[in-house]
Formats: sequence, C-alpha cells, structure tokens
Amino acid sequence: MWSTLKTEAIVIASEPWREADRRYRALTPGHGKLEFVGRGARKGKAKLAAHLEPFAIVTLEIIKGARSTTVIGVERQEVFSTLAYSIEPRLLALAATTLIDKTVRPDLEDKVLYDEVLLLLRFLNDAPAFPPTRNTFVLGGFLLRLLRHLGYDVELGACLSCKDDIRPLAFRWHEGRGGLVCTNCVLEKPHEWFSARTMDEEIVTLLRFARDAQYVDLLRPSLKADHVGAFASCVHDLMRFHVPGYVDETPFWHTTTLA
Ligand SMILES: [Zn+2]
Repeated sequence: MWSTLKTEAIVIASEPWREADRRYRALTPGHGKLEFVGRGARKGKAKLAAHLEPFAIVTLEIIKGARSTTVIGVERQEVFSTLAYSIEPRLLALAATTLIDKTVRPDLEDKVLYDEVLLLLRFLNDAPAFPPTRNTFVLGGFLLRLLRHLGYDVELGACLSCKDDIRPLAFRWHEGRGGLVCTNCVLEKPHEWFSARTMDEEIVTLLRFARDAQYVDLLRPSLKADHVGAFASCVHDLMRFHVPGYVDETPFWHTTTLA
C-alpha cells in the first residue's frame, strides 16, 4: 500500500543519489526525522530542488512506497534568508543541522527537538554575525540542550554521587559520568572517582549559562578564548562519551568558521 503524508518540515541535509536524484533528511514536528528521495532533483525538476534547500520551513508532501519514500510536493512557508544567503551564519547553522542529522535517529516523533531547532535557527538568522569564540559558545550551548534532549543532561547542580548541592571550589569534573562530583565523595571513594579531574569555576559557569540561558542572552557575557576552549572540549567529551553517531575526529567547533 502507498500512503501519502503532508507535514511541516525543515530540511537538514541532502546529497546526490543515483544519477539524477537527491536524498534528503528533514525534521518534522509530528514524525521526527524523515528520509526521502527527490526524483529528478538534480536536473529536470529544478523548482522542487530549489524549494528543498535547507533553512526554510516548508510544507512537504511525501509518498511512502514499498521501497522508498519520495517527495511529490513542497511549498515554502518561511525562509531564513540570512542563513540562506550569508556565509558565516550559514556555516554555524549547517554545523548544528549536520550534528542533528548525525545523532538523531529517523522516524521518532519529537516535537520538543523540532521546536528547539526552530528556536536556534530563528536566533541565528536574526543575530548579528559573531566571532569564532562566540560561535563555539553558542553551538556548545545548543549541544548541551541536544544532550539533555537525548537523555544525557549534564549534572552541574548536585553531586553525581551524594546528590548534595555542589559548592564553589569543592568539586571535580567527570566527563564519562556526565557532570560534577563533590570533593568529599572523591576523598571518600577514591577508587570510584579516580578519573575525576579539577575544573575551573569559570568553566562550570559557562556550561550552566550556555545550557540554561535564552539564546539571545548567549551574546551578552564577555568570553575569554581559553575559557571557551576548555568549555568546548568538555562539550566535545560529553558528546563523544554519550552520543552514538557523533564523529569525534572533528571537534564541533572546527566546522563553524571558514578559517
Ligand atoms: Zn558528593
């Protein structure tokens, strides 16, 4: 049986497929990540392909056959024009959508993730262009939200072991277990927490702020490059430990700039 489906969607990735087609992945509010093929998208039906460019909200009509899912109609609702036509913010948005594409499995309904991605794209589209350090901070903040969403929220408030509140200067960081442990627990159970390492208070503050603040507020704090570097490698380690599909040879911040 063939079945058709009409849905709002954001195209997050595509590549050439066979001689004349393209293969796409899109996020939807009600059907999670969908994969489908655009027939003739590389030559004849140029209009279809143009409407399937990323960084727009579209209405998508697809048909599910026995062997593949094919797009039969697409209509643009809202184009994120800065992301579509301006290279620096586009790279940052592409880095985010590529990471989503790698780490989110298809066909799981996921309205919360869809809304989170929409929030990020709207923010990037409206924000002024920012320097690489800020890029890294913003993308790191998005990844901390993605981690939370995937069930790996980093623990920054309470000790991973005894659950007491973490006090300033009295904690260690454990990336494998995903958060902070208090120094009491490290001293009491050294065999369990031997690989926990020291971390500057500033880095914890950055992690908390990047995860919890509104995107627009991520433009506010002044950032030191070495602090953001340490922050970014924490996020990278968390992703590497917990998210299947995150490819670790290229840290996420390498893809956000032309340099
Ligand atoms: Zn503790």
